[in-house]
Amino acid sequence: MKIHEFQAKEILRKAGVPVPRGLVARTADEAAAAFKELGGRLSVVKAQIHAGGRGKGTVKSNPAQHGVELVKSAADAAKVAGNLLGQALVTIQTGPAGQTVRQVLVEEGCDIARELYLGIVVDRAAAAPVLMVSAQGGMNIEEVAAHTPELIFRERFHPDTGLLSYQVRKLAAKLGLKGASVASAEKFMKALCRVFVQQDCSLAEINPLVVTGPSGVTGSSGVTGPIGVTGAGDLLALDAKMTFDDNALFRHKDLAELRDLAEEEPMELRAGEAGLSFVKLEGSIGCLVNGAGLAMSTMDLILLHGGSPANFLDVGGGANVQQVTEAFRILLSDKNVKAVLVNIFGGIMRCTTIASAIMEAYQQVGFNVPLVVRLEGTEVEEGRKILAGGNLDIISATGLTDAARKVVEAATVA
Ligand code: ADP
Ligand code: MG
Repeated sequence: MKIHEFQAKEILRKAGVPVPRGLVARTADEAAAAFKELGGRLSVVKAQIHAGGRGKGTVKSNPAQHGVELVKSAADAAKVAGNLLGQALVTIQTGPAGQTVRQVLVEEGCDIARELYLGIVVDRAAAAPVLMVSAQGGMNIEEVAAHTPELIFRERFHPDTGLLSYQVRKLAAKLGLKGASVASAEKFMKALCRVFVQQDCSLAEINPLVVTGPSGVTGSSGVTGPIGVTGAGDLLALDAKMTFDDNALFRHKDLAELRDLAEEEPMELRAGEAGLSFVKLEGSIGCLVNGAGLAMSTMDLILLHGGSPANFLDVGGGANVQQVTEAFRILLSDKNVKAVLVNIFGGIMRCTTIASAIMEAYQQVGFNVPLVVRLEGTEVEEGRKILAGGNLDIISATGLTDAARKVVEAATVA
């Protein structure tokens, strides 16, 4: 589960990780009021969407407006917020359609001496969380990883003990931090590693992590700055991205309210409600498969034969006719889908369930695109009989390669 920057910063603040003060605004007037509340000197207005690259991103209908903007007056804050709210923001992570901005974060402006990168993910091979830092912050970290991986430094830490002081010192030296910044890094990094484990995060990313310049944080009057930030040389999270492990959400009931359904792919939401594992992709071949492994190989085979999958859909072992029918409805509602491949290996799932669902979907939704079906396994003969008796317009396939070839051809012709 993803959350917004302002929500992540709230969690960080409570965990003792220094972040700038900020207020959320949902109208231009609220943005102006927030600017004044923050001290009225210098603020940054930041679009809140579940995608990064906002600073370089632009409003679709107004390319002069970026997703992150420095403002020096309440009127400016209102103007920028007005330009962003309700508009689609296009960034390298949103795709060409962009994502609608429903709220902005008005945050005190920070005097930036250096922009660093810091991220935590789970290193599955090592079965431990790993903290990554780089002096090349602010920019596209994927490019740094691809071209100059030696500029990214890593330390794994044990979930129980957290990051240890010697590890902080190692990383601080690599980042070229000196004096007060090292003490600040110790507090920052340890607290972030702690919150990562406590909240069952799958990702925590601070880009940029800044070293404050001579004026520190300039938006506030200096009396009530962010926790721990006293002036030049302190570390501060200027951006924050946090993703939680869905499988651990049951342990964090308080996080549920942070979920923003408006930011999520509608088809994935629908599938989630039906208890299906679904990920929308950009291709033209809808896949209905049982088992994640088979779903992956099906996508591979489609690609191998020159097609491209429109989704990953695993109906699992225990899905019933209603769930599978809903799966068909979801697939067929996608305008990009030019053909559908049903690839079932009946283990726990019976081929008769799938066959009945195909019949049901045929009657309820109607198929506007070619359907290729490959069934094997439990109750396959009975399943095939059901389909044969239904007099449906189906292309049957035997084996994976045959199925992939046929569906790619069907999607190309369509
Ligand atoms: P994104 O990663 O989506 O582009 P960021 O939050 O990283 O958004 O903001 C982009 C850039 O804007 C940052 O690299 C930083 O230079 C600047 N910026 C963001 N917040 C502030 C702030 N509070 N004060 C000063 N500059 C900021
Ligand atoms: Mg950023």
